[in-house]
Amino acid sequence: MPDASSAGLPGAVGFIGLGRMGGPMARRLAAAGVSVRGHDTAPRPGLADVVTFVEKAAEVADGVGAVILMLPDSNVVDAVVRGTGLVDALAPGTVLVDMGSSEPLRTRSLADEVAARGATLVDAPVSGGVKGAEAGSLTIMVGGPDEQVAAVTPLLDVLGRVRHIGPVGAGHALKALNNLMSAAHLVASSEALLAGQRFGIDPAVMLDAVNTSSGRSGSTENKWPNYVLPGTYDSGFALALMLKDIRIALGLVEATGVPSAHAARTVELWAEAAAALDPDADHTEIVRWLERKGSDLPGEG
Ligand code: NAD
Repeated sequence: MPDASSAGLPGAVGFIGLGRMGGPMARRLAAAGVSVRGHDTAPRPGLADVVTFVEKAAEVADGVGAVILMLPDSNVVDAVVRGTGLVDALAPGTVLVDMGSSEPLRTRSLADEVAARGATLVDAPVSGGVKGAEAGSLTIMVGGPDEQVAAVTPLLDVLGRVRHIGPVGAGHALKALNNLMSAAHLVASSEALLAGQRFGIDPAVMLDAVNTSSGRSGSTENKWPNYVLPGTYDSGFALALMLKDIRIALGLVEATGVPSAHAARTVELWAEAAAALDPDADHTEIVRWLERKGSDLPGEG
């Protein structure tokens, strides 16, 4: 196993939320020589070789300088940090790193509570999906004070590219706004590509041309070729989580007084898809939903 200290890494880290993203992230930290004290409410036997599981959330904080959270949303983050005694278990100087996509205003208020215990909350949400988590190529959007961000940067470097966005909450704000763009791109490109397909053009041929043209996006470069065309719809990012993110983003757009018509319509469409699909549906399923929702060609049927 590599020597963590020679790379400026801590010997151990706490990690709560070892799901689709947290699992491969913990695996990468372990491969870099960091021992991971983990907790999850669901059993994760597949990680037993790299994570030392503890019974209670607060126990991950024993003897570590940083605790990572990779939980679904702010409600769960609050329940874990405030409701399980974790906040009281953080030794002064500990950095609590919320890497999930939480709500920026709630992040700020939680940061005040964590600071009152002598610890620091840093938000560090990610983009890049399960593949990025496995490859250590996530984009990590960090919010927090310089000193504590610098302290956890060697850890975050193992997981991806660190971008210090601003003070606490700034990472969560940008992550939500990023996903608003991503959600809008997926609907816009899918409407266009489905229309082209009905016009008789092969989607693979369209993608090949669009991906060196001005219509390209993460949806045409990644989601369509990797999850839509093969018919797998298994990106690993749930539609319900995307809807959560874009609702946060719409709230930010509205609160700042920026025109929000497009953001509002995007949220409406994703909410309609979420209501029609299985609660566990992958977010790429919105393409199949749009396809089914589409009317027959004029003059047919
Ligand atoms: P997930 O549902 O696969 O994982 C969440 C984990 O948290 C699960 O293992 C669950 O059992 C655990 N958990 C839930 N409640 C808990 C509690 N009270 N105590 C301890 N553990 C608890 O979700 P995910 O896809 O890994 O996403 C995690 C976060 O990352 C979300 O905020 C999501 O929006 C964000 N995100 C996901 C992706 C992706 O592609 N999946 C990409 C970028 C960001």
